[in-house]
Amino acid sequence: MMSLTSNTRVLALLGDPVEHSLSPVIQNAAFREAGVDGVYVSLRCEASDLVGFMHGLGRAGAGGNITLPHKEKAASFLDERSEAVRRTGACNTFWGIDGRVFGDNTDVEGFRRALRHFLGRRPEGFRVLLLGAGGAARATLVALLDDGVEDVLLLNRSTERARAVARRIGGERVRVAEAAQAINDGVFDLVVNATRLGLAPEDRLPVDLGRVARAGAVMDLVYGPAKTAFVESAEDLGIRAVDGGEMLVQQGAVAFERWWDVPGPVHAMRRALATARDRP
Ligand code: NAP
Repeated sequence: MMSLTSNTRVLALLGDPVEHSLSPVIQNAAFREAGVDGVYVSLRCEASDLVGFMHGLGRAGAGGNITLPHKEKAASFLDERSEAVRRTGACNTFWGIDGRVFGDNTDVEGFRRALRHFLGRRPEGFRVLLLGAGGAARATLVALLDDGVEDVLLLNRSTERARAVARRIGGERVRVAEAAQAINDGVFDLVVNATRLGLAPEDRLPVDLGRVARAGAVMDLVYGPAKTAFVESAEDLGIRAVDGGEMLVQQGAVAFERWWDVPGPVHAMRRALATARDRP
């Protein structure tokens, strides 16, 4: 790492909890690789302190990321919102310029890049089953629609929340599954898990892939030190599958671009993630 001086720019991850995030490892590796004078730290932050942290850091020319559970709240504290923030109602990246706080939701572009990396192409014409209706699902939905999917079936524990997401972002290409049975015998080119299921070892699978007639590929946004149970369940059925590690890297690379105005060093970020995952 470059030596820390009074010029070193601080980028902070704000969330609760933040202890297990791999973003500090990935971003500090990126800063070293690119030779930028910054340091990335994580700060546990309660909802009531969020506006103070964001405005204080932003006005000091610093910035950072926002993670669970503050992404929606953060969107309301910005002076300037990107299109991705306006469409999703969520912010995961912020930075200050001349005393004003700018924000973006790099989960949208991060998902898009990770999906292309996985598929080797855009998902144009795809029929997609999207599980979840939280912040990650909204970012995923925006990216999928922009990339030309044919249609998306949204399945969430709370159907009302899925309906609200469809109303906000949807249009004619988005349908809401009124009950879990709606996916039986469905044909999907892609299934995306954007629920939290899989974060805890005791979690059930987000969906039983054996119930659908076809799932061409599976992307789990959850990631951990080992393969997620959902990825394993897909591979057991012969379906190619990937977890959320690449999306973590890609959304981080886009955030890096916002802070430093140069492309994020994706290879170094991937290497840092792989090393962190190998650590016992
Ligand atoms: P969120 O806004 O809190 O949404 C959580 C989602 O999970 C909702 O759809 C919720 O359903 C569902 N859910 C929670 N507990 C459930 C349960 N017991 N049974 C069924 N559904 C349940 O969280 P988020 O920000 O969207 O994040 C979702 C996941 O994506 C997290 O695991 C996060 O780590 C991951 N993520 C990964 C990346 C990456 O870079 N790889 C980026 C962003 C997020 P209800 O609406 O019914 O509550």
